[in-house]
Amino acid sequence: MYSRFYRLRQDAAPGPLDSPVSAGGVYDGFAGKLLLADNNLFSVSFGVLPDDPELKLLREPAFFAAAAAQLPAIAAWVDPNRSRPVTDRPLAIGALRNRLRRLVSHDGRPVVHGLHLVGDSLCMTNQVFALGVSLALEQAVIISEALRKYPTDLAAQTLEVDKEVVGRIAPHFEDVVAQDRARTEMWRAAYASSGREPDLSGIHAATVSDLDRRLTRQQLLRELRRAG
Ligand SMILES: Cc1cc2nc3c(=O)[nH]c(=O)nc-3n(C[C@H](O)[C@H](O)[C@H](O)COP(=O)(O)OP(=O)(O)OC[C@H]3O[C@@H](n4cnc5c(N)ncnc54)[C@H](O)[C@@H]3O)c2cc1C
Repeated sequence: MYSRFYRLRQDAAPGPLDSPVSAGGVYDGFAGKLLLADNNLFSVSFGVLPDDPELKLLREPAFFAAAAAQLPAIAAWVDPNRSRPVTDRPLAIGALRNRLRRLVSHDGRPVVHGLHLVGDSLCMTNQVFALGVSLALEQAVIISEALRKYPTDLAAQTLEVDKEVVGRIAPHFEDVVAQDRARTEMWRAAYASSGREPDLSGIHAATVSDLDRRLTRQQLLRELRRAG
C-alpha cells in the first residue's frame, strides 16, 4: 500500500466524501481511498497487488499525484488549490497479514497455562478493515469474563477464552480473510487480462457497493505513463 498525507490550505473547503470519514474505494485492479484525519489533514492511500510491478510507480510523488487526480472521489481533494502534501513522498507499507493465534491444541488441550493473548498478538487483520482496536477491546472483555468465571483454574480460563475467541473473534477474522482472498483474485484477473469482467462473488456487500468499475488498472496505467 502507498500512502501520503495532505493538509487542506487555509480557508479551503473540504472535498466531497462518500462516507462520514472517507472517499474512494475498491477498483478493478487496485484500491484508492481517502481518509480524514484531524487538524485539516487527510491521507490518500493506494492498495495494489504486491506482485504488480507497474503500479509500483505509485511510490514516486509525480505518479502518485497523477493517480490521485484520476480518482473521481479524490481528485477534488488533491487539487493543488485545495491542499498540499505534507509527507515528502508516498510511504509504502507491506505485509498486511491476517493471523489468528489460538492457545488450545487441535485435540482441545491448552498449550500454555496462565497466559492470555490480546490485541494483535491474538488476532491481526488487514489494517484496511480498521478492526484491530475493536477486536482488541472485545478480547479484553472475553478475558475478564473468563477470569471472573474461573479465577483460579488456569486451564479452564484458557479453554473459556478460546471458546469465546472462536465464537466472537474468529468470524470477523474469517470474513477479512475471505474478502482479501476474493479481492486478490479479482485484482490478479485484472492484472492478467485487462478486458475481463471482475468476479465479485466472494466480496462482501459493503465492498461491492464501494466498487467503482469506471476506472480500471489499464486506464490508471495509461495516465501514469502520460505523467512520466
Ligand atoms: C497502518 C495501520 C493502520 C491501522 N488502522 C487502524 C484503524 O483505523 N482502526 C483500528 O481499529 N485499527 C487499526 N490498525 C490496527 C491497530 O493499530 C492494531 O490492531 C493495534 O494497535 C494492536 O494493538 P496492540 O497493543 O496489540 O499492538 P501494538 O499497538 O503494535 O503495540 C505493541 C507494542 O509493543 C511494543 N513491543 C514490541 N515488542 C516488544 C518487546 N520485545 N519489548 C517491549 N515492547 C515491545 C511495540 O513497540 C508496541 O508499542 C492499524 C494498523 C496499522 C499498521
